[in-house]
Amino acid sequence: MMWLWIFPLILLLAAACRWQFWRLPKKGLLALMYHHIGQTDPADEQYPFTISPQRFEEQLDMLQKHGFSPVGLDELKAAASSGRRLPEKPVLLTFDDGYADNFQHLFPILQKRQVKALIFLITDLIGKEPGYMTWEQVRQMQQSGLVQFGSHTTSHARLRRLSEEEILRELTQSKKTLEEKLGVACEAFCYPFGSGGFDKRVRPLVFRAGYLFDFSTKPGINPWPWKGKKTILRAFPRGGETLTDFYVQITRGKSKF
Ligand SMILES: [Zn+2]
Repeated sequence: MMWLWIFPLILLLAAACRWQFWRLPKKGLLALMYHHIGQTDPADEQYPFTISPQRFEEQLDMLQKHGFSPVGLDELKAAASSGRRLPEKPVLLTFDDGYADNFQHLFPILQKRQVKALIFLITDLIGKEPGYMTWEQVRQMQQSGLVQFGSHTTSHARLRRLSEEEILRELTQSKKTLEEKLGVACEAFCYPFGSGGFDKRVRPLVFRAGYLFDFSTKPGINPWPWKGKKTILRAFPRGGETLTDFYVQITRGKSKF
């Protein structure tokens, strides 16, 4: 019967693959990447990118319970430029694309809890494409002082497939539109399609266009102070995952392979 120990071992190995609890907890800036806040069906292709308002609030509760302090881009900028310290366990909530549900479902939660967020807009789709926010909604969120906006290009292009001139147009035109519409400097950029969307040719152009921070979809926790050597990593809570996944993500940066 000695061989029976193999079953608990297999279970342990399976759990270790499913939740990466064996990674050491990391210190630094935790950035979280979200897209939709709303309801969707598991059959929907947006399901992994959609978190229900209720689950989002449970995640905020968990962050609070574990001592995380939500920070905004302004605090990151102050910390990066003046060496001002961030809170002990800083978390930055980020949202890609600029979906209308961010205004409908996310904004009331941010207001209720007075929590800050950073939303990356695809400037050509705002106020034009159904399902995306209008500029009026963007402005309303900005005026609350809780939401700041960054660029996610003008057209959500896969930048590594474009010429240098085309890349710079995506970078500078979206920055200019955001600055004209919102009256504040646009200093954060987020690559469409994450690591699959850019290469080492693209990144220097982001800084040449005048951005200070670049965000990728690579999971992880960022050593702070951030020196700009690498893109800012973001943990990715997916629709349908458990709160155990979320706990592993916020302490280790990712929960799955
Ligand atoms: Zn996107």
